[in-house]
Amino acid sequence: MVTTLPKTDVVLIGVGWTGGILAAELTKKGYKVVGLERGKRRTTSDYLMVHDELRFALRYDLMQDLSKETVTFRNNEKMRALPMRQYGSFLLGTGLGGSGVHWNGQTWRFLPYDFQIRTLTEERYGKNKIPAEMTLQDWGITYDELEPYFDKFEQMAGISGEENPFGGARSNKFPTPPMKVTPITGLFKEACANLGYKPFSQPSANLSEAYTNPDGIARAACQYCGFCERFGCEYGAKADPVVTVLPVAESSGKFDLRTNSNVVEILHEGNRATGVRFIDTQSGEEFIQPAEVVAVTSYVLNNVRLLLQSNIGKPYDPKTGTGVIGKNYAYQNMCANTTGFFEDKEFNVYAGAGSLGMSIDEFNGDNFDHSELNFIHGANISLSQLGKRPIQNNTVKPDTPSWGAKFKEESVKYQNRSISFNAQGASMPYRYHYLDLDPTYKDAFGNPLLRMTYDFQEQDNEMSKFMASKTEQIMKEMGASEVIVQREKGPYNIVPYQSTHNTGGVIMGDNPDTSALNSYLQMWDFENVFVPGASAFPHNSGYNPTGTVGALSYRAAEGIDLYLKNGGSLV
Ligand SMILES: Cc1cc2nc3c(=O)[nH]c(=O)nc-3n(C[C@H](O)[C@H](O)[C@H](O)COP(=O)(O)OP(=O)(O)OC[C@H]3O[C@@H](n4cnc5c(N)ncnc54)[C@H](O)[C@@H]3O)c2cc1C
Ligand code: SF4
Repeated sequence: MVTTLPKTDVVLIGVGWTGGILAAELTKKGYKVVGLERGKRRTTSDYLMVHDELRFALRYDLMQDLSKETVTFRNNEKMRALPMRQYGSFLLGTGLGGSGVHWNGQTWRFLPYDFQIRTLTEERYGKNKIPAEMTLQDWGITYDELEPYFDKFEQMAGISGEENPFGGARSNKFPTPPMKVTPITGLFKEACANLGYKPFSQPSANLSEAYTNPDGIARAACQYCGFCERFGCEYGAKADPVVTVLPVAESSGKFDLRTNSNVVEILHEGNRATGVRFIDTQSGEEFIQPAEVVAVTSYVLNNVRLLLQSNIGKPYDPKTGTGVIGKNYAYQNMCANTTGFFEDKEFNVYAGAGSLGMSIDEFNGDNFDHSELNFIHGANISLSQLGKRPIQNNTVKPDTPSWGAKFKEESVKYQNRSISFNAQGASMPYRYHYLDLDPTYKDAFGNPLLRMTYDFQEQDNEMSKFMASKTEQIMKEMGASEVIVQREKGPYNIVPYQSTHNTGGVIMGDNPDTSALNSYLQMWDFENVFVPGASAFPHNSGYNPTGTVGALSYRAAEGIDLYLKNGGSLV
């Protein structure tokens, strides 16, 4: 039996960063919002005194259970896709706050170049610079238009940082000062400055000092505990939805949060969504939640899957290049991994924070001349001092035996004498990189899994080699006696962790034929469906995504308000 619940103004599918921001902004405006979250409720007290690497970092306590729901993967269309049965390349969050609970907090604004990438690339280098198979497009919004929403996200989260000399114009300074400069990040800073670059502190959602945001939410400063990425913060110092936006929604009396509620379908009549169908994962009961607006806030991969599963929007067909849902899947070109061994210096690599770092942006976006290069865009080069995790990390030189007395001796010697950093490269969309429904494999509810078709291209490899020459130079300038650099990319391998920066699949743009969403994150052909999140990115930049995801979520909240007042297409 299916129970139909009373109608609400807005229903959220998933309550992580995107869902949390919509919940706060829309309840402030007086709308009734129902938040459906498939995972359980979480609070800061769950993490008190539990710096348990095995449980959180290696057994993925905060992540989606892959035995119930996963994705299938293949490098290209000639291969048969197989399910990802163990975590590797990326981690999918579940539970209240989503991945926002266990993220690092590196909070970037994409560059002005990103939002007009096709136009600006063609203007500077001519039409032939972009290969025919690269389905690159402008975003339908400019940096200047999005700037007020970046600012809102930063003020809400209390981002600590200093101005990026290559970034877009800012209406306000960062709300809190940059994180501390440590002996490690200081060494990187000095080396970069010696080489003529302009280093600056990474923008961080780990608070550098106590902060009260415009909603009156007060949080404590980061303790540099080093158990940040993959962990919840016991101090509430890391901005996450549970300690920032959700208390605002809950105090409004307008927010109905239902955890353990897995949405399996977006219901619709013609081109209008009427609500969602969800299953209580504890009782197995089925419910229908009718709503005026459906906001799909379930992270990139589930956003795409739910739309395809519910027959909302036209599925992308790579053969004809038509359709939009599943199009322009992109990732992150984490490249130029560089490790330096220091015979004469010792550091404390176990102290750190998820977003404690020093960066340079000379080789990101179009900040440098690509005329003679076989790639476009670039990478942010950063040394992030996250805090080494003792079980997972044991850096030794490549010729060290993998067991025995010599192994132990070298492990002890280099544990505090080795430093690594890399370049976070942009990822371009290609015609044959896409997401669709798998024809074979199903989840625990009997619905098809999402299938990912993706590989690295020559563009990624060329960028990797270029960045490796820069990272090697910096590490040498830092005084390392031996430097190991990864130059080549090779094919995409879903096994080793790289980053949870999946993007695309429900992209924004200025043309309904080539994009799924307008600049308010409203679907062109389903006007009461909004899909904020990195699924809206037409390509991925050389940064972590969530600063831009946050900005787009504030923009979507404004769009939903406008839609509920006036109806119709907002663009
Ligand atoms: C280890 C790690 C480190 C990261 N570090 C950074 C960083 O430093 N900087 C950065 O910019 N980004 C980082 N990210 C990425 C960042 O966490 C995401 O960009 C951000 O959380 C995305 O917000 P979202 O709302 O789209 O998804 P999420 O925050 O993941 O929330 C989605 C929610 O939807 C729920 N959901 C999914 N399907 C359903 C369904 N069918 N029914 C009901 N609920 C559903 C999920 O359980 C989840 O709670 C990191 C991610 C990980 C995993
Ligand atoms: S490093 Fe800072 S922000 Fe991260 S979990 Fe520890 S105290 Fe919290």
